[in-house]
Amino acid sequence: MLITPSNLKSIQTVKYLPNTQTKSANEHKEMNVQNRQKNIDEKIKELKQKRKNSLKKLAISSLLLVAVIRYSIFRNIWNGEKELAQNFLELMQKNKQLFVNFVEKYESGIKYQAQHIDFKPANSIEEAKAFAKNNLNIENFDADDLEIANWINSALVKYSNKFEGKRILPRNVVCKDKEISNPNNIAEILTKISEIYNSTLRINKESFENFDETIDSLYEIQTLSEKLHLTDKMQLKRSVIKVTTENELNEYAKKCQEIYENKEKYSRFQKKAFFTEYTNKKAKLDFWNNTENCVEFLKTRLIELPQDINKMIQKGKFIPKRIKEYTLEFMQKTGYKPTAGVEAQSEYAPIWHELGHLAQREDEAKIYYNDSVTNIKNADKSSDLVSKQLAYYNKTINKIKHFFIGHTPMVEYKYKLVTTEPYKFEFDEKDKFIAKMISEYAASSPDEFVAETFASLMEGNIGKFNEDIINAYKRFKGPLLDFFEKQ
Ligand SMILES: [Zn+2]
Repeated sequence: MLITPSNLKSIQTVKYLPNTQTKSANEHKEMNVQNRQKNIDEKIKELKQKRKNSLKKLAISSLLLVAVIRYSIFRNIWNGEKELAQNFLELMQKNKQLFVNFVEKYESGIKYQAQHIDFKPANSIEEAKAFAKNNLNIENFDADDLEIANWINSALVKYSNKFEGKRILPRNVVCKDKEISNPNNIAEILTKISEIYNSTLRINKESFENFDETIDSLYEIQTLSEKLHLTDKMQLKRSVIKVTTENELNEYAKKCQEIYENKEKYSRFQKKAFFTEYTNKKAKLDFWNNTENCVEFLKTRLIELPQDINKMIQKGKFIPKRIKEYTLEFMQKTGYKPTAGVEAQSEYAPIWHELGHLAQREDEAKIYYNDSVTNIKNADKSSDLVSKQLAYYNKTINKIKHFFIGHTPMVEYKYKLVTTEPYKFEFDEKDKFIAKMISEYAASSPDEFVAETFASLMEGNIGKFNEDIINAYKRFKGPLLDFFEKQ
């Protein structure tokens, strides 16, 4: 009904109508309310249903989402694990193969000699080569100088016999001119831990070649030596001469004279050895005649020193004579041996030096061999573990249809492959100082220190070594110290 000015009055009239009319309006009103209530209930029901449905949808989609995420995470971890295990297995088998190859080559490559070999000088190069092949396991003997060939064979026999045949020898010997990396070297050895059974000893033929012509220089040395002996009290400090005893000097002077008078009786190698012995004696004198070396030595024994020496060392102001004399007195009192170096020198010393390198590498190869055997065992254990893990992955992946898996089991790699690093030693200043007692060359590297000391040990000089040298030799894993200590 539209409310217009014309019908406004009638509406107002209706308003004040008697109760009956009101009743009927109320009835009508109630009907409407009921209908509306019904509608609302339905709507609510409908809404509730809708909400329920959407919640259901939400829940389902959420669950699906979680499932998808969980599944993809699981799948990634699973595949990642599987791949990791597979890669690890491959790597391990590859690594293992390296050790297996080394062990096989080592076991078949190492050859020892008879417990004792009798050496007889060969009369021809062919004979010398045959001797080397049959007795010393030398496959390739490349030499054209019979004297040198006999010298090499003789040295290798002495070395082999000393260790009752249980030390490997070089497999190849080359003694030709210019076939040496450093022309200043008398000899060199080419050796690798991985192919320890296939070392090559090279001799610089040239270094012996013109030795007879240098006999004059030997004479110079002899006269020098005599001068040293005769005029020592005038020219040299009393303390210096104590380093090399008068007896030693007398013997040396005699030897000098003899070689000079009987040049032809001595081999090139003996003359060379004599020359080296002179160099060593001189080096020893020079070493302890050097104030700085004396101070360096005394510094390591500070507690036992008298006050004036201590003060000199602390202030850096030295009275050379006092320092040197005290050093030698101290050595005598404490039994410290100034004598060092490859003193007593035989004609074989250059070969002993190279064999010292070989012996050290041989000891390292033994360690590497033992480690390799352990590594192979560990690799097998590890492979077994990883293979089981992989089999588990392959079996389980087909069975898994749902995503309710908390986490994938991780492979535990308990067995790690350890590769052996060869010894890597470095010299500090103190080590260099000790090595210099052996020789200038010994101070160039730990390897050379070991080889030089080894050569001296082969000469039977162990009784002449002071404790510093012996301790350093042990520390740098010099070979065969036990053997020499037993002697
Ligand atoms: Zn060397």
